[in-house]
Amino acid sequence: MISYQMALKTKQDETQALSDSNSRLANLDSLTGLPNRRSFFSRLKTRVGSGTVKENLGIGVGILDLDGFKQINDIYGHSAGDRLLVEVGVRLSNMLNGEVFVARLGGDEFGLLVDGSPHDYDLKVLGDRLCEMMRVPFEMDGFTANMSASVGFAVYPDSADTMQLLFERADYALYYAKQFSAGATVLFSAEHEAEIREVSGIERRLRDADFSEEMYLVFQPIVDSVSGRARGVEVLARWQSPILGAVSPVAFIRAAERAGLINQLTEILFQKALDIAEEWPEDVFLSFNLSPFDIGSRSCVLKLMGISERSSIAANRITYEITESAVMHDYEGAVEALHLLKNMGSHIALDDFGTGYSSLSYLRSLPLDKLKLDRSFIVDIDKDESARAIVRSVVGLCENLKLDCIVEGVESEGQLKSLEEIGCQTIQGYLFSKPLSEADIGKYLSAQQRLQVQA
Ligand code: C2E
Ligand code: CA
Repeated sequence: MISYQMALKTKQDETQALSDSNSRLANLDSLTGLPNRRSFFSRLKTRVGSGTVKENLGIGVGILDLDGFKQINDIYGHSAGDRLLVEVGVRLSNMLNGEVFVARLGGDEFGLLVDGSPHDYDLKVLGDRLCEMMRVPFEMDGFTANMSASVGFAVYPDSADTMQLLFERADYALYYAKQFSAGATVLFSAEHEAEIREVSGIERRLRDADFSEEMYLVFQPIVDSVSGRARGVEVLARWQSPILGAVSPVAFIRAAERAGLINQLTEILFQKALDIAEEWPEDVFLSFNLSPFDIGSRSCVLKLMGISERSSIAANRITYEITESAVMHDYEGAVEALHLLKNMGSHIALDDFGTGYSSLSYLRSLPLDKLKLDRSFIVDIDKDESARAIVRSVVGLCENLKLDCIVEGVESEGQLKSLEEIGCQTIQGYLFSKPLSEADIGKYLSAQQRLQVQA
């Protein structure tokens, strides 16, 4: 017979085991079996403390993020994406072999904690090894996934001495890696810090800016190189801040995206652009850049449609330029937004083709009319046969998919000659014209119209 004490003890043991197992589960990622985000931060907290330097030991905090994972989900479905994440988890655990703490932070992001005061060099080597390992193709059930990963590291206490800041800085290093050297490792540095300051300075000023007053537009012709006539005009935003002076468009557009101001800015610029284009000949189209955040916001898309509807510019004279990242976060929502714009009669161009993931499946599945080939493709085109071969194949692809191909950033006669030989004749670049002011584009287009009438 079991005594009352023994039964109580068994019950207590069971409760303890259950609570151990619950707390283990609460700290594990259910998909990969790796420690989860909560576990990552609780471990980081024990190392770093909450604000003060507790120990003299340095620690490396890393974030590894897969490049192009969203595409796997979009193309092969979420269960394939999940299986891939499990495989990534297995590779990471096998390679790190308990020497580096690795956790899944969420989505396709993994956290790394490297104890023992690692040197910058060690972290760079480690990060690069991980990136290299992620480039080995993943043989999945029914398909092969060719992946890459980017890694950002920050070091305690050099990069930052609080848990929050340390993680933010690792995240910034990752962001930097993704922007400027996808597939590589970046360690947070003072330069990044200066950039963060600059970016947050821009963001602060942007919040106080009067967009209608301080923002203006310039216009770059998109030319048919055979006739020499502008078929269209790309609208480019400029900001002359009373405090910062002229701010680069890439910087203030990014700041507006981060500050949640981009939709408002886009709507104001679009209205301005259409008002100005009313003065242009009717056979010239207007090409307008949209941020991924514009395409991702239904209310912004509806507002743009309203502005277009109220304008005297026919919708079929408007091209919206989007980048691949516009469809990376919410593919279905973005495609729906593009269809809304297309149903009005407007056109869609895929911008900066060749700089992102350049997924060929997007070319087929998105409702596109035009493709803008990034200038990086044509920089050496007059000197390098392989550069010509790449452009030739993209042009062939466009022909097959019935997309207009526009080549950006043409600066020299040599580049133009090579492009004409390949059969590209819609060109944008300094060779024909730099971006022009409102008054100058007006003059440019009316001079062109006068010539046409005379001919
Ligand atoms: P993008 O859409 O790729 O625009 C083309 C950029 O290439 C423009 O830079 C243009 O001035 C520059 N460019 C044109 N021809 C040449 C050339 O022959 N050589 C060189 N080196 N560059 C050339 P910009 O005006 O500085 O704009 C930079 C980026 O800022 C744009 O890149 C676009 O991503 C963004 N941007 C500009 N205006 C807007 C806007 O109104 N909305 C949004 N969302 N983004 C905008
Ligand atoms: Ca563009």
